[in-house]
Amino acid sequence: EKGKPLMLNPRTNKGMAFNLRERQILGLQGLLPPKIETQNIQALRFKRNLDKMTDPLEKYIYLMGIQERNERLFYRVLMEDIERLMPIVYTPTVGLACSQYGHIFRRPKGLFISILDRGHIRSILDNWPETNVNAVVVTDGERILGLGDLGVYGMGIPVGKLCLYTACAGIRPEWCLPVCIDVGTNNQTLLKDPFYMGLYQKRDRSQLYDDLIDEFMEAVVDKYGQDTLIQFEDFGNHNAFRFLRKYREKYCTFNDDIQGTASVALAGLLAAQRTIGKPITEHRVLFLGAGEAALGIANLIVMAMMEAGVSQADARKKIWMFDKYGLLVQGREDIDSNQEGFVHPSPGNVQSFLDAVNLLKPTAIIGVAGAGPLFTKEVLAAMGNLNDRPIIFALSNPTNKAECTAEDAYTITQGRCLFASGSPFGPVTLSDGRVFTPGQGNNAYIFPGVALAVILSGVRHISDTIFLQAAKTLAEQLTDKDMEQGRLYPPLSNIREVSLRMAVKIVEYVYAKGMAFRYPEPMDKNSFVRASVWNTQYDSFLPDIYDWPGSAQEPP
Ligand code: NAP
Ligand code: MN
Repeated sequence: EKGKPLMLNPRTNKGMAFNLRERQILGLQGLLPPKIETQNIQALRFKRNLDKMTDPLEKYIYLMGIQERNERLFYRVLMEDIERLMPIVYTPTVGLACSQYGHIFRRPKGLFISILDRGHIRSILDNWPETNVNAVVVTDGERILGLGDLGVYGMGIPVGKLCLYTACAGIRPEWCLPVCIDVGTNNQTLLKDPFYMGLYQKRDRSQLYDDLIDEFMEAVVDKYGQDTLIQFEDFGNHNAFRFLRKYREKYCTFNDDIQGTASVALAGLLAAQRTIGKPITEHRVLFLGAGEAALGIANLIVMAMMEAGVSQADARKKIWMFDKYGLLVQGREDIDSNQEGFVHPSPGNVQSFLDAVNLLKPTAIIGVAGAGPLFTKEVLAAMGNLNDRPIIFALSNPTNKAECTAEDAYTITQGRCLFASGSPFGPVTLSDGRVFTPGQGNNAYIFPGVALAVILSGVRHISDTIFLQAAKTLAEQLTDKDMEQGRLYPPLSNIREVSLRMAVKIVEYVYAKGMAFRYPEPMDKNSFVRASVWNTQYDSFLPDIYDWPGSAQEPP
């Protein structure tokens, strides 16, 4: 490519950082202001502009605009200030962006596949300009964060997740493909919205939907290879479990809401174990919510308890769930097969979540209902009365769906709780002056590192043990200083190093367990992982110019 197209392609564009030679050779001279700029100055300009903006959605639009114009600059700015910008490209602002998608739309990102495209998915994939895709994040938009069915507006989620693949784990952006599958939406507001961008139809729940997903999976591996990583994101509950079961032994796939979330929550409990010395086996966990996240977390906790010598049956007895209709107890008729392991004999009369807390006396409550602030002041106070160091995880996203605020959790328990939330909360200062920095229990600590390891080592199927390893390596990375501040997760500003270390550990693990299929096995896994990492420095476009000795051209 030469000339204007080079500047219009975000992957090659460097803006005013094209140097004079490049401008002359590539036919860009005169198409740019005369000044040759460094990336430092470009980054500074963008940061200044961002600082002037107060509205998060405005920042989102601006950042996404940079991604559309100059990819390396976008990632540079994102990575340098990940703690402040992650809440923009990811939860909570991405939730707002999804709900406003049709209104703030500039240019399409990712690949859209609708149910009307059945039979043609392979040729749609051929329209995608990159040929070396290694990772796909796919949603059908049915359960976007805790916001429900957003149909094709859900595309913001795969786009945001893949931004973190690159920003947090250095996975090359051209390896990443965001996909939104459109089978309709049951969101009445969107179906009446003239700006909506998907099919105006109700969700197809027939066999056609399953056939479409089957065809999609086959087309992806046919085009990009059997070991292409396919991450399922924000599917509705029923489909999420079905597809995970159906595809996990057939493809290189995982469900982030079930497995990634499980890993980050378990890491929080393992970190709490380091802080307060309570082994995982001594917890009694009560979930608010009994869906993808709750069941994923519960099953991984059972796995960790079993590793510590507890039987599966005994481990399950330590875990309770409370959903929209109350406690999961024997005799309830609406229990689905995924929940069966966590259905126990009724402990007594439970009318509310507070009743359940008082009766079951949990050491930890984990909120994953996506239903808003249901860890009331009474619930938090009860947890504080029952436990010296209660564990309180309010994991629902975005912020307004969180089960409680960090402030309530710390104040009501007089700073004794170990708190984490799915979306970020700022530090909390108690009236006695103590400051607590809440951790973000978000799968963003897990999926980038896991994805990098899986891609690099040629893992064919992603087992739950990989997520167990990920949880352990995450918890191990907490420093004493982090723990003193009440953190259960390393600071977000370190997420890149945290993800890379996790990837190294997982690469070591999968080779040791015979799950890796990339040969030859790299001896030094640390340098292997680090050498693969993409960086944001501009490439040179100058041809490889050199001289031959003049004498070689003349007879002696
Ligand atoms: P899901 O599969 O739809 O499960 C939601 C569960 O919550 C269901 O069991 C549902 O019960 C229950 N529920 C709904 N309203 C309730 C209420 N008022 N009281 C008690 N229970 C209620 O969804 P999910 O995938 O588990 O996600 C749930 C939430 O977790 C979302 O907000 C999501 O953003 C968050 N999440 C966070 C992370 C993270 O990394 N922090 C990762 C994944 C998900 P019924 O089935 O009876 O309706
Ligand atoms: Mn999700």
